[in-house]
Amino acid sequence: MGTTIFTVMSRKAEEHGAINLSQGFPDFALPAGLGEALARHVAAGRNQYAPMAGVLALREQIALKIARCHGCNVDPDDAVTVVPGATEAIFCAIMATVGAGDEVILFDPSYDSYEPSVRLAGGRAVRIPLLPPDFAIDWQRVAGAVTPRTRMIVINSPHNPTGSVLGAADLDRLEKLVQEHGLLVLSDEVYEHLVYDGAAHHSVLARPVLAERAFAVFSFGKTLHATGWKTGYCVAPPALTREFRRVHQFVTFVAVTPIQHALADFMAEAPAHVDLLPAFYQAKRDLFRRLLAGSRWRALPCAGTYFQLLDYSGIGDADDVAMAEELVSRHGVAAIPVSVFYERPPRLRLLRFCFAKQDETLVRAAELLCRI
Ligand code: GLN
Repeated sequence: MGTTIFTVMSRKAEEHGAINLSQGFPDFALPAGLGEALARHVAAGRNQYAPMAGVLALREQIALKIARCHGCNVDPDDAVTVVPGATEAIFCAIMATVGAGDEVILFDPSYDSYEPSVRLAGGRAVRIPLLPPDFAIDWQRVAGAVTPRTRMIVINSPHNPTGSVLGAADLDRLEKLVQEHGLLVLSDEVYEHLVYDGAAHHSVLARPVLAERAFAVFSFGKTLHATGWKTGYCVAPPALTREFRRVHQFVTFVAVTPIQHALADFMAEAPAHVDLLPAFYQAKRDLFRRLLAGSRWRALPCAGTYFQLLDYSGIGDADDVAMAEELVSRHGVAAIPVSVFYERPPRLRLLRFCFAKQDETLVRAAELLCRI
């Protein structure tokens, strides 16, 4: 396993003094009150270990949010675990359930931590291609890839890096498949609130058939502009949560205590914060796309996430790693080559740009991109 592309590209952005649209993180402030809440809890002395499953007040707020957003009840005691980042939850869910020789269905492309986690668990990733421009799932192909060794399928909607979003019909197909073959589901929903153009996010938690065999993973980093706080949660039925916690207790044991208290306060005080996120990020997506209109970059559809794929075949035919290198070193903008998310990259000329940035950052970046 090499070094992740996010480390590589953010380092290069710094080296070259480039605008960093590579690694996904906002360059604007936390929501009002959140930082103050953290300072308050640190000052109040909440600086020792939390319970292994997470601070109860936060787990209760998470259960309320799930009821509000997805219309279902989860027990904060035995179905919700607070984790230091969704990455840890993904790792623990896979370690807890995938054994030597088990197969796990992943899509191609997919987020870069899934496959290494499967391999570390002794499993084998079976990749199913998602094809541009919409990167939709070919469910027939998925069904054809299931074998007696298939243990789990990993879905991710909204999808990093492509920005595609699953619809109700996709979850219908998934339901049939997992019922027929007794599969587990790992549902990475960290971008649940970043869905645009009036579309809805379809969570596995809202589907009893899926919820009873799924680990659903979420991240406060995305919803609260706080990727550096590295805090998220995993929701799974009690039997799966028990297995999950057996691994979690020996990977990190707990998430950071005062952060959990601050998040609980914020969720109680501003439950509607998440309702504003689609319009907030959609405006940024639209601004970035508008600024690039008429340039040699071609924007692909972006239904969700804070990532925009740009096709550069109108500029040149270099492979995407070389193009990203040239872009950061000669033109001052860092982006992510999409081929790194693939096991078998097709001949794509695509780079991924993060638009979770202040408007003025997007304007400056677009100016540089439009000169190419
Ligand atoms: N998820 C973020 C991205 O896709 C980065 C996460 C990381 O740096 N590991 O850019």
